[in-house]
Amino acid sequence: MTDVTVYRDPDTKAPGAPPPDKEAPALVSLVKQAQAAAGPVSADDQPLYAARRKVYPQSVSGTYRRIKWIVLALTLGVYYLLPFVRWDRGPGAPSQALLVDFPNRRFYFFFIEIWPQEVYYLTGLLIIAAMALFLMNAVAGRVWCGYLCPQTVWTDLFQAVERFIEGDRREHMLLDKGRWTFNRIGRMAAKHFLWLMIAWWTGGAWVLYFADAPTLVKDLATFQAPFIAYLWIGILTATTYVFAGHMREQVCTYMCPWPRIQAALTDEYALNVTYRYDRGEPRASIKKAEQLRAEGKPAGDCIDCLQCVYVCPTGVDIRGGSNLGCIQCGLCIDACDNVMAKIGRPSRLIAYDTELNIKRRLAGEKPFVRILRWRTLLYAAVIVLAGGIMLYSLATRQTTGINLLHDRNPIFVRLSDGGIRNAYTLRILNMRREVRQFTLEVQNLPGSFVTVVGAKEDANGRPLLEVNPDQTREFRVLVTEYGGVKSASTPVTFVLRDLKSSETATASDYFRSPDVHP
Ligand code: SF4
Ligand code: SF4
Repeated sequence: MTDVTVYRDPDTKAPGAPPPDKEAPALVSLVKQAQAAAGPVSADDQPLYAARRKVYPQSVSGTYRRIKWIVLALTLGVYYLLPFVRWDRGPGAPSQALLVDFPNRRFYFFFIEIWPQEVYYLTGLLIIAAMALFLMNAVAGRVWCGYLCPQTVWTDLFQAVERFIEGDRREHMLLDKGRWTFNRIGRMAAKHFLWLMIAWWTGGAWVLYFADAPTLVKDLATFQAPFIAYLWIGILTATTYVFAGHMREQVCTYMCPWPRIQAALTDEYALNVTYRYDRGEPRASIKKAEQLRAEGKPAGDCIDCLQCVYVCPTGVDIRGGSNLGCIQCGLCIDACDNVMAKIGRPSRLIAYDTELNIKRRLAGEKPFVRILRWRTLLYAAVIVLAGGIMLYSLATRQTTGINLLHDRNPIFVRLSDGGIRNAYTLRILNMRREVRQFTLEVQNLPGSFVTVVGAKEDANGRPLLEVNPDQTREFRVLVTEYGGVKSASTPVTFVLRDLKSSETATASDYFRSPDVHP
């Protein structure tokens, strides 16, 4: 059998395991003596918060680590490079593929342009995002946390930089415990400098989504950019540096609400990173396990090497059962698989599995994976439905908008020739990138006349309402009628028609008059 080098860090031991070195019992006895001298501890004396134990995650290789590298490269690549992707929308239009244009109140996403009144698309996107998160959770627990969450991705990147400069777990721990030498100060300075550079790039990339990226980069470099851009870069540099560099697992454990919500949403069939204690227990060293097996006694596959704990970015020992601190990254699976390969035991002592399956195996029943369940089908159905509605509405969306507001005061005017006149404010939205002319007519009001203040007229004397490309324009509309109305408030419909394409948009309101005409 292959030898496995197992080392223990002096300050780490498996929960429930005996003290790992000779000093520990003496330490425990000292603590007990101090506690006895201090007398009984009341609830008021208990600290409110647990002291932070610094986590030194060890590097690991394996399937899940590879998946995490790929996801990290893809997500960071998209985040940093997307603002520079161009999309031709014609002359006068921004050419940035993804742009949040606050000054002009537009959101651009490749061929899609969203106007402020179409904010319901955002609602649709949020519904899809929430359902996707629920679906991921129902299938494989906190897979979002372990692979895709920005906190995880940036922390992973910061830890890679840390390892590169200060060494892997053991070297880093020794460095931290050692004296302040030039070597230690230099390494620490280099690490924080690189962290700050990454954080600064992160903040810089963020503001590029809100203005033309190449222009803003030039303006930022020449200090011509607006103050708000520098402010946001500063805020995001600070938050990235603090969250990914210093707080790390603390954000997942204490600040993020998702673990609590996720725990309430999960069920017994969701696959989670699970220590298969049916296979792993009773734990024993390699030699002891071999001896037990030779004697025909039960021996688990877990050799209590703690490699799964050392690689954990949140410092969790998954062998203690499901844990709020576990972000389901799967790195402990890789670590344990490497150990199992070395000691010649089957892989996946830790795996994506369920507690239910462990119980079934213990009872001699066949384990199973059930992805298709009512909740997964429901989440998938909502995603398909919301996505379908959004796609249909995008495919059939109108490029003309109309808003109408009746004058409040006066609500009507009696003219000297006996006519009754109502005035309206009409706002037209031209969502196309071309100048358009519209005609306007009023339905349900026979014998009425429509005039539009400041509008041109066509050959037949009809008002022509002209609106520039991708613009809105307001008009004052006067409607006059002579004895056709039958009540003090007559429902009317305004029909706006594009002269070229005949596309129409309608708005409903009322025509007010003093009373029925004599
Ligand atoms: S216990 Fe395993 S899956 Fe959970 S966070 Fe730690 S390494 Fe990742
Ligand atoms: S579960 Fe695997 S990695 Fe963890 S202590 Fe046991 S053998 Fe080692």
